[in-house]
Amino acid sequence: MKVVRVALDVPIATLFDYLLPDALDAPPGSRVVVPFGARQRVGVVVEAAARSAIPNARLKPVAAVRDDAPLLSADWLELMRFLAGYYQRPLGETVIGALPPRLRMLKALPREPERHFRRSASAPEPRTLRAGRKRALLEALGDEVISEASLLSSQAHSAARSALRALLREGWIQSAAPVSGSRFDSIHELTAAQRENQSRIAAAFGRFQPFLLHGVTGSGKTEVYLSLIAQVLERGAQALVLVPEISLTPQLEARFRAAFPETRIAVLHSGLEDAARTSAWLAAARGEAAIVIGTRLAVLTPLPRLALVVVDEEHDSSFKQQEGLRYSGRDAAVVRAKLSDCPVLLGTATPSLETWFNCREGRYKLLELPQRASPGARLPQVRTIDLRRESAEQGLAPSLVAAIEQRLARGEQSLVFINRRGYAPVLACQACDWAAGCDRCSARMVLHAADRRLRCHHCGAETAVPRECPTCGNVDLRPIGRGTQRVEETLAARFPRARLVRVDRDSARRRNELSQALEGIRRGEADLLVGTQLLAKGHDFPALTLVGVLNADSALVSTDYRAGERLFAILAQVAGRAGRRELPGEVLVQTRYPEHPLFAALARHDYVGFAESQLAEREAAGFPPFVSEAALRAEAKSLDVALDFLRRAARLVSPPKSVRLFDPVAHVIHRRAGYERAQLLVQSDSRPALQAFLAAWNEQLSATAPKSVRWHLDVDPIEFD
Ligand code: ADP
Ligand code: ZN
Ligand code: ZN
Repeated sequence: MKVVRVALDVPIATLFDYLLPDALDAPPGSRVVVPFGARQRVGVVVEAAARSAIPNARLKPVAAVRDDAPLLSADWLELMRFLAGYYQRPLGETVIGALPPRLRMLKALPREPERHFRRSASAPEPRTLRAGRKRALLEALGDEVISEASLLSSQAHSAARSALRALLREGWIQSAAPVSGSRFDSIHELTAAQRENQSRIAAAFGRFQPFLLHGVTGSGKTEVYLSLIAQVLERGAQALVLVPEISLTPQLEARFRAAFPETRIAVLHSGLEDAARTSAWLAAARGEAAIVIGTRLAVLTPLPRLALVVVDEEHDSSFKQQEGLRYSGRDAAVVRAKLSDCPVLLGTATPSLETWFNCREGRYKLLELPQRASPGARLPQVRTIDLRRESAEQGLAPSLVAAIEQRLARGEQSLVFINRRGYAPVLACQACDWAAGCDRCSARMVLHAADRRLRCHHCGAETAVPRECPTCGNVDLRPIGRGTQRVEETLAARFPRARLVRVDRDSARRRNELSQALEGIRRGEADLLVGTQLLAKGHDFPALTLVGVLNADSALVSTDYRAGERLFAILAQVAGRAGRRELPGEVLVQTRYPEHPLFAALARHDYVGFAESQLAEREAAGFPPFVSEAALRAEAKSLDVALDFLRRAARLVSPPKSVRLFDPVAHVIHRRAGYERAQLLVQSDSRPALQAFLAAWNEQLSATAPKSVRWHLDVDPIEFD
């Protein structure tokens, strides 16, 4: 009997050997059912072996081989090996964690092929229906043929399934054969700059080549992706498109569906129901879906004919997973392209410094779209409002208020951006120095005025607003500072006739609520918007001509060396919402530091100048991307225990000369959800030396860490709070 090495998601970081009965065939990439302890588990065969180090008599046989999903390919397994090795996680956890939930279960998948639907002739116009799930489904369906999975994925709520059944019962929708074809309905003739870039990327089809498409906001990057994907479809191949946020998937999906009406598009993100996620994954893995759009986890999908990878808004920090396998979806996308011998296109207006550095070093090819694509559209004018000269009333400077008034009079839209949700970040007593804090975190509770609750944005704890100060009994408790809700209140009082829309994670609890709000804004059903970064990214609001930015200053005084990079990116993004058509846009940034070079670079739309100065600072200070970095993080009930663990850890394995270990430090918000947190930073000029050290260290840590400490390694960490 042969031996197979099986990846299992169990807390032991090793592969497990099983005997393969002669009657079974299980090449690498097979999903198998194997006995483990008292029960059975689903695993993946990673290797076939001639023999095991364990005597055959003590090995158990594979119980069954699953053939309800395609064999996982060699390059997919290679990707898993790379991720597990690079990010220091067990291969078993990595492989099983990359499968959609239903493929990890013992129960075999249902056999029936996936259903597709279209609207029946008898269906009423969705507009004539009461707002609700049925109407939302009919709207999502439009005049297209859409798979059950993507139809359900267009709705956030699990009740969509019963609404779908109801529509079938009423005969308003019917099953249809899935569409397939590669028709490309492009709306725009590409500009010369778009065409030039497009053909340089297309010339790399069939081989690995990373590109950075550095295009200002509104420069038509998405149109470049679309026309490249059209070529991928003509070749009968597959394209993978990664976006940073779930909230960006519906609009991108709609744009792709309009462009490729005959093509199966699979959408993948963590907000999907298990069934929808599984069937989208299967459509991709079977090669039935030619386009896969998704958040970072979509990079883990098997794609047998992958010919192009696109990472939109590549600079966005949400590409980095912050638990378990702490991978960067963007970096994984590059590895993925390498394993598939295909080009990978990273698109953004504000590249991450890592990516910019990779271009400078010649590893990535730089392509640029320096102008907006839409005829007559120009980049907005950016100006600062000096808060030391103009005193803000309720957080709004008079010149910002005047600019909004002007827009209202002209029937144009304005957006007030403040990157903090809730009413006020602090509720404090006027008589003593009490301020509402979280019991479980070293952080303040945020006041949410609408439902009179205090919420901790770090652990999710919430309480009612107290009637009086718990320390001195004073009833005069006041909100300090402001968030979106308070700005909304101020704007509503100041502009009572304006149609005001707030967009943040609280206003858009459900995904389709958010897309409906965004659609309304696009159609011009709002005059004044207030919102967080949810409003900043990627949206195209034709009538928006003014952006006001509040509270930008906190990032300027942050100790995190990435704060400047992030602030520039978010401001360039939000500024990019203004003036995307013929009407010129204006951006007003309220600040106490108007002379700060970041604002000057922003006003010049000078990403390159900004990036170069940041890189010079990073080089002088010895920060990434000039060094490779990892963090060992510890959480324990007391800070001493966490710090002590890190101090011991530092002595566990003696590092090679090129690897430097820093002193352990507590996080800024050192207590979160009842745990004290600290970390130890490791740096090296040599990536291989760092990787070798981390592997040895990880092994020792796993063998010796006490139970009282939760710990993990984070390779290429980006969060330091
Ligand atoms: P980006 O992804 O760079 O932000 P988009 O692809 O969303 O830019 O394009 C911005 C706007 O310009 C969109 O409204 C789009 O329809 C328009 N646009 C893009 N390419 C062209 C073109 N070649 N001709 C005219 N308009 C275009
Ligand atoms: Zn008090
Ligand atoms: Zn908390």
